[in-house]
Amino acid sequence: MKIYNTLTKKKEEFNPIDGHEVKMYVCGPTVYDYAHLGHGRTYVAFDTIRRYLEHKNYIVKLIINFTDIDDKIINRANEKRITPKELADKFIKSFLEDMEKLNIKPAELYPRVSEHVDDIIKFIETLIEKGYAYVADDGVYFDVKKFGDYGKLSNINLDEMIAGHRVEKNLKKKNPEDFALWKFAKPNEPKWDSPWGEGRPAWHIECSAMGIKYLGEQFDIHGGGNDLIFPHHENEIAQSEVYTGRSPWVKYWMHTGFVMVDREKMSKSLGNFITLKDLIDKYDSEVIRLFLLQRHYRSPLDYSEEGLLDAKTNLEKLYNTLKNVDATIRSSHIKHNLDDIDIKTYETIRNAWINFYNAMDDDFNTPEALKYVFEVSNVINRYVNTSNNPNKSVLTKALDFFKMVGEIFGIFNKFDSKDNEGIEEDLINILINIRAKLKKEKNYNLADEIRDELKNIGIQLEDSPKGTIWKKL
Ligand code: AMP
Ligand code: ZN
Repeated sequence: MKIYNTLTKKKEEFNPIDGHEVKMYVCGPTVYDYAHLGHGRTYVAFDTIRRYLEHKNYIVKLIINFTDIDDKIINRANEKRITPKELADKFIKSFLEDMEKLNIKPAELYPRVSEHVDDIIKFIETLIEKGYAYVADDGVYFDVKKFGDYGKLSNINLDEMIAGHRVEKNLKKKNPEDFALWKFAKPNEPKWDSPWGEGRPAWHIECSAMGIKYLGEQFDIHGGGNDLIFPHHENEIAQSEVYTGRSPWVKYWMHTGFVMVDREKMSKSLGNFITLKDLIDKYDSEVIRLFLLQRHYRSPLDYSEEGLLDAKTNLEKLYNTLKNVDATIRSSHIKHNLDDIDIKTYETIRNAWINFYNAMDDDFNTPEALKYVFEVSNVINRYVNTSNNPNKSVLTKALDFFKMVGEIFGIFNKFDSKDNEGIEEDLINILINIRAKLKKEKNYNLADEIRDELKNIGIQLEDSPKGTIWKKL
């Protein structure tokens, strides 16, 4: 299996550090507003990656953090006259609800920054002891020039950074490219004691401290949206590799492309976002998943209603196939004399299955994998509609294929083969009642025809003084 690694800028064979275990950290949201489709994209992508790894028998340990200390949270809480914690609690709850509705499997742990300030302080102390961080008037900073590998993830060089104004202008730090680890408290802000004075952690340090705390000094996958490559992940690498003295801190760096609206990134700060809640109300959550999976996770994705409606049609088509196959399977048998169409259909499903895996093994190419899902859907529908004696083996293979797809893509959860079973039972009972009425009217020919036709499809009626019962042959 190959994964595109932002660190090496190429697709690499995936070999986890520790055999069967995959340790994975995905940067979580800054919780000051409702989650939007951009978040949905990133977390559905990593959920699909996680599901595929689990399908391949890896045991995945996934950590997603909550950034609950941040300027935007403090400002929004002040506007609303509530505490930052109240604001964060509200949006954490809302985020987790959205994730559940989207069939995103829960992470093992969702650590919050506000509950890890001690770990962060110890981390910063080590960076200072090692000579890579210094205390300034307004906080503690990381001395970027000292870390020779700086820029290896984003390929940025320091001169470009400064020329491109991609650094915070601040005369209090030694060099313009240095980034904050700890910010001294301003009035009316949440604050914690530290060896350098009261204050709060800056942004990047949280993911280094919590990543190492829960996943160890080196782990397999670290992910987030494209916007996090620089400076967030670049800074995480610098801090972590200095702290542990080991490199690489993370083996595979994975980044998702943006959901775009009118050529701009969908974002809370631009205000051009559509919340997941609104979308889930309007469309089914599986429609949203399919819409997202129809595009490769690294490519930008344009938000459009047509795209969602298209995904809705596609999902309905797949559900119809599932019901069609499931209904046919009950009256089918395993054949010994195969027709050409039986052999060809089985072969198509088998090849599609292999191609599905090949596509997923190629950096989780979900749009390519979906092509084979639709291929199986078309082929099996044609088979059911044209074969007068469909082979149970073929139908079972198709159903197994769709179950596998559903498990990896987090769809088809509303398909319950018992639905059809319920209908089957109801229909048989309707026929039994009609047959009883026919017998009362002495219309024995038609009553016998019902009994015989049911027997032909494997249902045996047995009359007894208590009434008629049925069983499957
Ligand atoms: P934030 O809430 O901005 O801290 O973002 C949380 C995660 O969602 C990060 O990994 C972001 O990169 C990702 N994200 C935010 N907006 C988008 C978007 N429009 N498209 C894809 N991912 C996004
Ligand atoms: Zn992070």
